[in-house]
Amino acid sequence: MRIRFSSAVSGIRYAIRELAPLARELERRGKRVIYLNIGDPLRFDFSTPRHVIDAMYRAAVDLNANYYSESRGLLELREAIAEEESRFNGLSLSPDDIVVTQGVSEAIQFVCRVLLEEGDEVLVPSPSYPLYISMPKLVYARPVEYRLDEGSGWVPDLDDIRRRISDRTRLIVLVNPNNPTGAVYGERIIRDLVDLAAEYGVPILSDEIYNRIVFDGRFVSPASVSKDLPVIVMNGFSKAFLMTGWRLGYLYMHDPSGEYKEGFLENVVKLAMNRLCPNTPAQYGAIAALRGDRSHLVDMVRRIRERVDRIMYWLDRINGLEGVRPGGAFYVFPKLVLDGAVDDRDFVVRLLKEYGVFVVYGSGFGRYGAGHIRIVSLPPIDLIDEAMERINSFIRNVLKVY
Ligand code: PLP
Repeated sequence: MRIRFSSAVSGIRYAIRELAPLARELERRGKRVIYLNIGDPLRFDFSTPRHVIDAMYRAAVDLNANYYSESRGLLELREAIAEEESRFNGLSLSPDDIVVTQGVSEAIQFVCRVLLEEGDEVLVPSPSYPLYISMPKLVYARPVEYRLDEGSGWVPDLDDIRRRISDRTRLIVLVNPNNPTGAVYGERIIRDLVDLAAEYGVPILSDEIYNRIVFDGRFVSPASVSKDLPVIVMNGFSKAFLMTGWRLGYLYMHDPSGEYKEGFLENVVKLAMNRLCPNTPAQYGAIAALRGDRSHLVDMVRRIRERVDRIMYWLDRINGLEGVRPGGAFYVFPKLVLDGAVDDRDFVVRLLKEYGVFVVYGSGFGRYGAGHIRIVSLPPIDLIDEAMERINSFIRNVLKVY
């Protein structure tokens, strides 16, 4: 049989879900597992706003909007997104600038496919959300990790970026607020990064999926400060609007010179046509999310901040873990400070097997993630307490760190 598997695909890893089969197997054998691996608020005590669900229901049942929509997304949704982004990032966008995608995940794929050729390089933050490492590889391009500096609150190390820019660099990825570190970058660093990228003529890919989930600091988009550099912005409905399972996101290019936007969109839309369209009823839900009441956001950010505080409280008390306080998003990313070398993946596998707590190993987020673990800051306080107590017991009883 002439079956062989693409090396681009077989080399891919997704650390966040990789150990899920082991967790399920442990559950099948009767062990209770606390899942702190996936940044999905709907797995905890958060729910999609009722008016968003109602709008999807009305679309499916009353409007019979169960058809393929336009590939780039419903006009009414693109209008709502253009208004929202223009307001939030201080831009002037039209609905035709926007392409609606099946989550930011698909937007990342689109951008990689449209802008990268074999051998090209993409500067990705390290630690990095894993898709920024795997998606360039799918098109035979090379992710080049740049350092986020833990000592200064995980901000991008601009000197490191400068050192790593080559003739083949096609994109600089910025994830702000960041996954997995939870860092929110100040305006100064964003401006400096935009200046640096402009100096070399490399566009920025700005992942802003957590931009409403900020408790310390203020979110600044590179698009809002760029005078001439093209910035591709991606955002979505999964996190802020609690719609993870409905799979909706979007992207646009902020292109002050106007030179590149048309070609970029033309190519993105070709890809969009090839996958037909995003989920139509969910797009009606997204219109309601943007145009309707969004008071859930205030409550959500308040609750996540309390939960982060609780994890930080525990980190202060557990010998063996040291964490930088996150300013946003859903994650805390502490360092393992244990006597002797303990591999972060081993730590995570043993913690899961022996104490039933499922976190993600830091090296799954790239080189500079090694020696850390990512803990999701979404569970209610009592579950956080239980998980952190178990982690503490694991470190004391199994690793013998006091
Ligand atoms: N970008 C970042 C930084 C994320 O953390 C995630 C999901 O966790 C995504 C993109 C993918 O989100 P979506 O649900 O929109 O595909």
